[in-house]
Amino acid sequence: DPTDPTDPTARTARTTYDVVVVGAGFSGLYMLHRLRGLGLSAVVLETGEDVGGTWYWNRYPGARCDVESMHYSYSFDPELEQEWEWTEKYPSQPEIHAYLRHVAERHDLRRDIRFRTTVTGARFDEAAGRWRVSTEGETGGELEARFLVTAVGCLSTPKQPEVPGLETFRGEWYHTGAWPEEHVDFSGKRVGVIGTGSSGIQLVPEVARDAASVTVFQRTPNFSVPTRNGPIDPDLVAHVRENYPQIRQEARRSGFGVPLPPPERSALEVSAEERERYLHEQWSKGSVTAVLTSYNDLLVDADANHVAAEFVRDRIREVVDDPEVAEVLCPRDFPFGTKRPCMDTGYYETFNEDHVRLVDLRRTPLESVTPAGVRTSDEEHELDALVLATGFDAMTGALLGMDIRGRDGQRLADKCRDGPTSYLGLAMAGFPNLFTITGPGSPSVLSNMAVAIEQHVEWIAAALEHLESTGTALIEADPASEAEWTDHVRESAAGTLHMEANSWYLGANVPGKPRVFMVYVGGVGVYQDVCDEVAAAGYKGFELS
Ligand code: FAD
Repeated sequence: DPTDPTDPTARTARTTYDVVVVGAGFSGLYMLHRLRGLGLSAVVLETGEDVGGTWYWNRYPGARCDVESMHYSYSFDPELEQEWEWTEKYPSQPEIHAYLRHVAERHDLRRDIRFRTTVTGARFDEAAGRWRVSTEGETGGELEARFLVTAVGCLSTPKQPEVPGLETFRGEWYHTGAWPEEHVDFSGKRVGVIGTGSSGIQLVPEVARDAASVTVFQRTPNFSVPTRNGPIDPDLVAHVRENYPQIRQEARRSGFGVPLPPPERSALEVSAEERERYLHEQWSKGSVTAVLTSYNDLLVDADANHVAAEFVRDRIREVVDDPEVAEVLCPRDFPFGTKRPCMDTGYYETFNEDHVRLVDLRRTPLESVTPAGVRTSDEEHELDALVLATGFDAMTGALLGMDIRGRDGQRLADKCRDGPTSYLGLAMAGFPNLFTITGPGSPSVLSNMAVAIEQHVEWIAAALEHLESTGTALIEADPASEAEWTDHVRESAAGTLHMEANSWYLGANVPGKPRVFMVYVGGVGVYQDVCDEVAAAGYKGFELS
């Protein structure tokens, strides 16, 4: 009986659902839970072999969340909030993965998740008013559903470096975003690391602990703030647990999804001494968000930003012994905070060790990977292992990686050829009954994503509840509302310093990708109000039929 949930063969034989969800990370897990609560039949399809998404794939040494444990967690289960024991201020990948596995068990989610199953495409069948979803993998074949929800992640399509020759390399190589499950032993090896974004900066000190030598290939230095991570403070845990509802509310009302008060002063309205004192105070908190929110104009005023950037560069110069190496590590060609700012544990200190070497690819460009290692314009670096910390095709990689076709067979990839368009980052004109969790045009990666994800899941669940209770079959964004929101997203970014950086927020890390700012910079609180107003006005800007 394909409708019997206790029959394991029936589970994979079933092909018709109310909702198909793609992805079993933070988003997909909670979406499934909410759909069940609405009494809808749902299945989650996931390429990986386990739940966790980001925290399943990114098992590289040092992988860690830059949002504090107590805030990077679900708020929907108040008992879980009270029971779950985080061990560190900032949670490591194994700990977050364990947490998400626990959530899956606790809410019995696994029985509706099909692992090792990749969605290759989905076609909206206009006559039937249904999505036909093509899959490959263990439970391959076609599924059909009234609604399709993508929970495919903003940072889930790893990007390879743009250098030839990787296939000729005789040693072992790994991408941080698809790290093997078994322990990788670097002891006694000469390891090269390409990429100095968030992942590289987390990984380098860990690899340096075991490796015979580490060569870090840097194209663009990044700003990084030390985490001051350690065992979680039991007083903090008690305080947060006691005040969770209020603290969650503060996070939801904030700009970046963490409960920090909004800055009120400009960096330029205080004296240089006062600024130095206050930046040190914020720096000592071990939080990049604390530094970014020291003043209210760091992301909009070039002079204000320069002050903060210079402050961070001074901290790098303070730590790194060799002044020449320190200067190479100092970012200069983009404002602080306009490429994803990093957080580290001992990154800059690592360059004081004799067996760690920094190669400046701006001076000596990377030419190729060779059988023996990596060749730059002036040298061949012999290596036993290579780590690619080269990031992701962000925001749209996984979404457009599927061949999604809406009305009249229009391909989503074609619609997004000049950059993604979206109404609220949640829906797209011409693609009825499709919802995109943390889609382009929502705050997503510019916030604590746990907050952004819960808000989206809850909004989608409420929309589905509305459709069910009013007997509405279809919901679709109006082209005009979509165009207006897309313009608003781009104009909001245009008023900031974000446009000055060649960031992955702008697609600049992927050759040929349109240069369009894909994230809504208005802040999660402001954004939530917009979404709530749309819903309260009977889903204004959507066509319901
Ligand atoms: P993901 O966790 O990316 O899950 C998406 C899932 O969809 C994946 O498992 C993928 O396999 C699956 N999938 C994709 N396409 C298909 C398909 N076609 N068919 C089947 N399955 C598919 N966020 C923060 O807020 N703070 C942080 O400090 C932070 N640090 C991060 C560090 C790293 C290294 C990375 C990569 C991300 C980090 N993030 C951070 C962002 C993180 O991705 C989100 O916080 C969150 O985990 C996203 O959850 P998700 O479920 O939306 O997406």
